[in-house]
Amino acid sequence: MTAFIHRRRLFEELSMKEWDIPYDELKLFEVIGTGRFGTVYRGSWHGAVAVKLLHVHSLTDHCLQLDTFKHEVATFRKTRHENLVLFMGACMKPPRLAIVTSLCKGMTLHTHIHLRKDKFTANKSVLVAQQISQGMGYLHARGIIHKDLKTKNIFLENGKVVITDFGLFSVTKLCFGTNARGDSLGIPPGWLCYLAPELVRALRPHASLHLPFSKDTDVYAFGTVWYELLCGEYPFKGQPPEAIIWQVGKGAKQSLSNMQASRDIKDILMLCWSYRANERPDFPHLLSTLEKLPRKRLARSPSHPVHLSRSADS
Ligand code: ADP
Ligand code: MG
Repeated sequence: MTAFIHRRRLFEELSMKEWDIPYDELKLFEVIGTGRFGTVYRGSWHGAVAVKLLHVHSLTDHCLQLDTFKHEVATFRKTRHENLVLFMGACMKPPRLAIVTSLCKGMTLHTHIHLRKDKFTANKSVLVAQQISQGMGYLHARGIIHKDLKTKNIFLENGKVVITDFGLFSVTKLCFGTNARGDSLGIPPGWLCYLAPELVRALRPHASLHLPFSKDTDVYAFGTVWYELLCGEYPFKGQPPEAIIWQVGKGAKQSLSNMQASRDIKDILMLCWSYRANERPDFPHLLSTLEKLPRKRLARSPSHPVHLSRSADS
């Protein structure tokens, strides 16, 4: 038995090596952004790549971080799907822990919706939501929970959806255990409205590592992305975190009374935001619901002049 485990370990180590990128082979150019991950650079490794450099704080944390990191890299390398960012490899020698992925072109949905205030027609929102459901359905079928689905982690490249940062939540949280940003519960701004009631109820100061993430909590987060696409803003807009935690924790939802959308579209939202996790649909179900939505003919009204594949992409 121990020989078997030993051989298995060896095999895992060997297959990990295939994904090991020597840090010296990477060229790092400018910083693209800093997030919960640490720093993201535009880089080069056999072509253009994005390099996420994780900061390792103290030597005592190394072992724990390396194990978590290796585990998450092992998850990451199993993914091949049109709507998921391409994982290329990782640097796994502390203190240099880095994840190398393809460089996403275009902008994130967050940039489109909240910074550029681009309007998405219902038809375009459906196309985007379908692709997210396809990518997420694939992840779930492989047993991978995203844990951080949000418009900042969804790129739009010429109308094609590319989802990033799946399954990397724990290692980023480990590296940033005592998050300087965010409030006393360690809640970074803009994160709360993606958290399902069961997560909100489990929030404790600086303990987000142990939150009960599940496929159902990913579906809840998808609901919020769907709302942002349709309404151009976050649910519970302008409300303080305590008010959101109180409402979501006891099952209240963002009101949809001012939302101009068909019943079917609102029903998807309400189902994804179901208080009970087992009442939320899964992604294959969502995909077929989205595919059945009646398509409005694309009328070019002045209030919705944006045809995504042209004007809302860079
Ligand atoms: P967050 O997702 O919270 O914005 P990240 O650390 O994931 O934080 O990303 C930091 C910045 O790097 C963001 O502006 C993000 O859009 C950008 N970025 C992340 N991954 C990629 C990628 N694969 N290609 C291009 N830009 C990326
Ligand atoms: Mg990200």
